[in-house]
Amino acid sequence: MIPYGRQDINQADIQAVIDVLNSDFLTQGPAVPAFEKSVTDYCGASFGVAVNSATSALHIACLAVGLGEGDYLWTSPNTFVASANCGLYCGAQVDFVDIDAKTYNLCADKLEQKLIQAERQGKLPKVVIPVHFAGQSCDMRRIHQLSQHYGFKIIEDASHAIGGKYRGNPIGGCQYSDITVFSFHPVKIITTAEGGLATTNQPDLAEKMQLLRSHGITRDQSRMTKPSEGGWYYQQIDLGFNYRMTELQAALGVSQMKRLAEFVARRHQLAQQYENLLEELPIVRPYQDPDNYSALHLYPILLELDKIAKSHAETFQALRDNGLGVNLHYIPVHTQPYYQQLGFKAGDFPEAESYYRRAISIPLYYGLADRQHQVVSVLKQVLM
Ligand SMILES: *Cc1c(COP(=O)(O)O)cnc(C)c1O
Repeated sequence: MIPYGRQDINQADIQAVIDVLNSDFLTQGPAVPAFEKSVTDYCGASFGVAVNSATSALHIACLAVGLGEGDYLWTSPNTFVASANCGLYCGAQVDFVDIDAKTYNLCADKLEQKLIQAERQGKLPKVVIPVHFAGQSCDMRRIHQLSQHYGFKIIEDASHAIGGKYRGNPIGGCQYSDITVFSFHPVKIITTAEGGLATTNQPDLAEKMQLLRSHGITRDQSRMTKPSEGGWYYQQIDLGFNYRMTELQAALGVSQMKRLAEFVARRHQLAQQYENLLEELPIVRPYQDPDNYSALHLYPILLELDKIAKSHAETFQALRDNGLGVNLHYIPVHTQPYYQQLGFKAGDFPEAESYYRRAISIPLYYGLADRQHQVVSVLKQVLM
């Protein structure tokens, strides 16, 4: 089976992990700060807080910007459930903004319309989480302008987007947001097995997230309520979690970061080849905004169902039966049973639902190489 995405691990990556195993620290050593520095140097952000997943990063990012009970968090319905669940973890209510039909990203026009309405009802969101779907940035200038007017915080869910650029600047620089979150799950652009990282330019947010990833405990005398009682002393000054990344993961991350530009460049080559090779097929290929540089985490095609003899599900199954590990990103979050029980219904976000009824993510990853031709021939066989 050719998967839709997979990691690429070379000898240097393996050696980096072995070196940690032979060192003094398996956790809380020098590799985590080194990884944070490699990501913040790359993105041009002031601070980076590495954690054990993007889900954890989203959670502590929401807490850091003060999301809590009585607040609203808005995100895209076309995302992984974690982008919305983080709001519920904080006791906030979650709502969605439908996607743009061309980019499949949260639509800035619909965001504005919804903000106008919410202002009238006194239900403005505290946090908006734009998700850079498939690695392509949302319209951050516009979303940022709206945040200035309506007073919400912005957390970019850039789980798909490390190595991508928004108008020439690396995603993660937080030029138009408070915090940006990355995922390093093996299907993403670079991997630490499990792992995530939050970047920010605001020292108070970085400090808060550092505290929350490790039980809310500090060893910093200046933050304690009274003088130290001895060398062993620490204080718990907040309610945090154990969301720490291990040294093994961070060392792998440092090694993978050195390969990031090459990873994304290869994805672009492969996507360009798909552009040409899939031209005659009855599908819509993913739109690439010429002003931005996508990290190309995914290559979602949309079926032109009126030109295909099979249904969406039949096409998907035929591709799987022929050795393609295709997937579907995403089932609209508001249609999940857990969200339906919160009051959402099918029909609430029609653009995301119509996308879902036609979308299939085909294989795109660094090591795809010659197998791309096999993907194309199976697609032709199934769709023509
Ligand atoms: C993968 C992903 C997450 C969650 O990442 P983990 O590191 O697995 O917790 C969150 N949001 C989006 C958009 C993702 O694709």
